[in-house]
Amino acid sequence: MTELRELYQELILDHSRSPRNFGPLPDATRHAEGFNPLCGDHYHLHARMEGDRLAALRFEGAGCAISKASASLLTQALAGKTEAEARTLFEAFHALVTGAARPAGDRLGKLAVFSGVSEFPARVKCAALAWHTLLALLDQSDEAVTTE
Ligand code: ZN
Repeated sequence: MTELRELYQELILDHSRSPRNFGPLPDATRHAEGFNPLCGDHYHLHARMEGDRLAALRFEGAGCAISKASASLLTQALAGKTEAEARTLFEAFHALVTGAARPAGDRLGKLAVFSGVSEFPARVKCAALAWHTLLALLDQSDEAVTTE
């Protein structure tokens, strides 16, 4: 388990213990649900859109430390971003955690902490779950997202 412990860096632990933007969003205009059956991670993402901008973003649910920290950091990274910016960031994050690309400078900011998960395929699903849920939210899909 030592290699897994290396993944649980300080930032991930901090965000999993004290997730930011955690809880309901009463004036949300969009919702999406994501489920990772391999690990049991299960989250609801709520957003209030103002035009094409993510004016507010909150999440609820439960799962492992990586999935919860990823959702927490996602809500911080995307607050105030436009839909197009959010999709660009999704692509960059997805490339990072799947090992398709090295951390791209400043663009990912704190999200670069997840670069280590690319070595652990099962953990990639944990880290990417919130991001796939975000895509469903942007696409206004009513179907729950599953990593399977
Ligand atoms: Zn997980």
